Amino acid sequence: MRILVSNDDGWHAPGILALAEAMRELADVRVVAPDRNRSAASNSLTLSRPIRITDHGEGVYSAEGTPVDCVNLALNGLFDWTPDLVVSGINNGPNLGHDVVYSGTVAAAMEGRFHGVPAVAFSLAGFTGHYETAARISAEIIKRCIEYPLPEHSILNVNIPSVPYRQLQGREVTRLGSRHPSQNAIRQLDPRGEPIYWIGGIGEALDDAEGTDFHAIHSNRVSVTPLDVDMTHHHRVSMLDDWLPGSAA
Ligand code: MN
Repeated sequence: MRILVSNDDGWHAPGILALAEAMRELADVRVVAPDRNRSAASNSLTLSRPIRITDHGEGVYSAEGTPVDCVNLALNGLFDWTPDLVVSGINNGPNLGHDVVYSGTVAAAMEGRFHGVPAVAFSLAGFTGHYETAARISAEIIKRCIEYPLPEHSILNVNIPSVPYRQLQGREVTRLGSRHPSQNAIRQLDPRGEPIYWIGGIGEALDDAEGTDFHAIHSNRVSVTPLDVDMTHHHRVSMLDDWLPGSAA
């Protein structure tokens, strides 16, 4: 069993160190991760310049690129080594609902899926630092993936409450909830009096009904959401056929 580990918080973040350590108990592990924090990099690929890789020894590499650059290179020529699983995280903070669209952690998993390798993204859904809980859950879930392999193109988005392990209230398979739009941008002045802006903080939960990832996390349960990259709004295809003049339907 070979596992490629990546993340979006950077190769030296506490979450990836905990995850890689847990994975080494289960498999032959290589780590390829960004050389700095690239959170919210989404699925971006670096096409305008080459990407330098630094070998830190013991199967750990960092790249001057995005999470998706890391997984893409690891699967396409960096190594003569093909992983059976791509595992991403453990992200510092939740990836719930709309977060998955922006998340580099989830994108790293998606990139594995594009190459036919099942992938799992792990996020610590809080900022109280219980990485030991998330690492233990990651090991449990990946052990399950090894014993009962997921189909090709599978992506699981796993969020783990940031609490001591004994306080977990179980595991739940969920759907994505949603958030309100992000808060207002914050305007400041630079030393020359020119305005600069910070993107606003993330919005509060909008859809956190029972069955959602938000609801599971609020209930201290581990949330496991199967993701699909097909973003087609299937119910709206026929409606749009009527709406679009000249449509062939
Ligand atoms: Mn991150």
